[in-house]
Amino acid sequence: MFLKERYESEELKVLKALNTRMDLQEKEKQYYLNLQKGFEGEVMFDGYLKQIVIRSLILNDLLFEQNHSHFQIDSLMVSQRLSYLFEVKNFEGEYYFEGDTFKTINGNEVKNPLLQLDRNVSLLRQFFNSIGIKIPIEPYLVFVNPDFTLYQAPLNRRIILPTNLNRFIHQLNNQQSTLNHQHGRLSEKLIASHITKSPFSKVPHYDYSQLRKGVFCQACGSGIAEYHSLILTCPKCEKPVNTKSALVRSIEEYQILYPSEKLSTNTIYDWSGELIPKRTIRQTLKENLIVSGYGQWSYYE
Ligand SMILES: [Zn+2]
Repeated sequence: MFLKERYESEELKVLKALNTRMDLQEKEKQYYLNLQKGFEGEVMFDGYLKQIVIRSLILNDLLFEQNHSHFQIDSLMVSQRLSYLFEVKNFEGEYYFEGDTFKTINGNEVKNPLLQLDRNVSLLRQFFNSIGIKIPIEPYLVFVNPDFTLYQAPLNRRIILPTNLNRFIHQLNNQQSTLNHQHGRLSEKLIASHITKSPFSKVPHYDYSQLRKGVFCQACGSGIAEYHSLILTCPKCEKPVNTKSALVRSIEEYQILYPSEKLSTNTIYDWSGELIPKRTIRQTLKENLIVSGYGQWSYYE
């Protein structure tokens, strides 16, 4: 049972919105693409976890602080006897371990994910101790991308390769598991201790006047040049874009980048590069205000 779902982080949403509206520096762009790729890998792994049929609690994307150290957990699955801690990597290409280092086939050293896993398991164990939970933790490093190859894989049962994934899930499903109040208490504590604001966030500085205004094609990122009331067409890849959803996306991007600013017809008109008529914007803001009702789009005038 999934107790906590996974969503794109605020940081990823901000970077995605910025990527279409400004030229990110090479390093920032790489960071953004890595975040995006990591997220996609985690979603891929969720697909496997959804096949778990034994009684268990699955919590995704947790962030904790323990002894002044922050640590992030991609997925945690709690069954009767064990807590499975999963560190998910969406690496593509050929890699190998050499002693304590992890390298690409060209010899470039990459941060060793096993060390990251060790650190996380130690911090999680301390967290469990601090709340008096005695369920042992079993850590796993999961390589989820089918195009990942690991040479000289250490005979380490903690590493799950893409070709082992189905078997691994099958093994989990073969266990007996019933849950009691201790498991319930653990998951409540975990959710309550989860931090929403990531201290790792690396969002570059951005300034409204420097951001590109307009409505952008989701497929290729090009600006839409011509207005049509129902379907816009991307001038570059010629993909059709539903006008309404393009406008809604544009409004959402504004909200992600400027969460404390008031939404108004004029603001969005400017933000969308004066492409969409104010009448349509006003109507869309109104409709969504009513639909959301939770103050997500709280202000418009
Ligand atoms: Zn396009």
